[in-house]
Amino acid sequence: MEYLLTTNALTKSFGKHKAVNDVSIHIRQGGIYGLIGRNGAGKTTLLRMISGLCAADSGEITLFGYSGVQRLQVMHRMGVLIENTGYYPNISAAENLKLKCIAMGADYKKSVPQLLEIVGLSDTGNKSVKKFSLGMKQRLGIAFALVGNPDLVILDEPINGLDPQGIVEVRDIIEKLNRERNITFIVSSHILEELSKIATDYGIIHNGRLIDEFSTEQLGEKCKERIVILTDDTAKACTVLESIGITQYKVVDLTTIEVFERLDQISQITMEFAKANVRLNGITLKNETLEDYYLNVTGGQKNA
Ligand code: ATP
Repeated sequence: MEYLLTTNALTKSFGKHKAVNDVSIHIRQGGIYGLIGRNGAGKTTLLRMISGLCAADSGEITLFGYSGVQRLQVMHRMGVLIENTGYYPNISAAENLKLKCIAMGADYKKSVPQLLEIVGLSDTGNKSVKKFSLGMKQRLGIAFALVGNPDLVILDEPINGLDPQGIVEVRDIIEKLNRERNITFIVSSHILEELSKIATDYGIIHNGRLIDEFSTEQLGEKCKERIVILTDDTAKACTVLESIGITQYKVVDLTTIEVFERLDQISQITMEFAKANVRLNGITLKNETLEDYYLNVTGGQKNA
């Protein structure tokens, strides 16, 4: 597996509080990595370290195969939108982008029209950015991150506060750039339903720690639809399942069995258990979403 970016045991404290604690993430080339976590989990601090906006206390970052001071040579291949976009409110999107291009040594005559087109701001003319909607400002922020044709783009909470239309627009831009230009993305969000529409990989960060990292395929396995059987006698319950020809099942722990076939036959299976005198503490059909899975592993409530 080729990783475009990895961190190894990255740690950052503010006073006694470890905002990022021993985090090792793996960003696959060509993927869209969804960084998930509630407010204060440590997402922004992690992304700020990766982007060179703040220094780590310990640990290592490897970017395009370079680590240590050598990493500085390839930082220009990374575009970043974290917190403030850094635009000037009294001038237009085009003028803002021109200034950014000049600062980055990019050809503004060629780049500005292209960037405006990509983020759907071509028709904003001389309108000053302070008159933009939040969605337009966010799209301008993405255009800023794209100056210099980066291979990796980091977007911290790009859909936060946007209306449904604004969310779709940002999502479409990310997908298009990923598909057509092979740009790798790291996108942090706590709006999991949206993230799950575009992400190819996920990292869950909780209280500063990376508690899980998985691909969409692995998420599909984790969230696969199944019958969950709770019983104190899993051994006997397995015998009953086998006796009716069920082989696709897994004993999860001492009291839980998961069945992955005959999902529409819960009542028949329940009857077979009754006939064999196996006492059930519960039998339900379970179909988890990313959000359910996230809540499971973080043991928490929804993040508003
Ligand atoms: P949010 O979505 O709210 O920004 P987050 O997951 O991005 O959440 P961080 O902003 O990385 O979380 O914050 C992680 C923890 O570190 C929080 O407890 C926060 O208060 C603390 N923190 C972040 N930056 C600083 C700072 N400059 N000084 C002190 N504490 C900080």
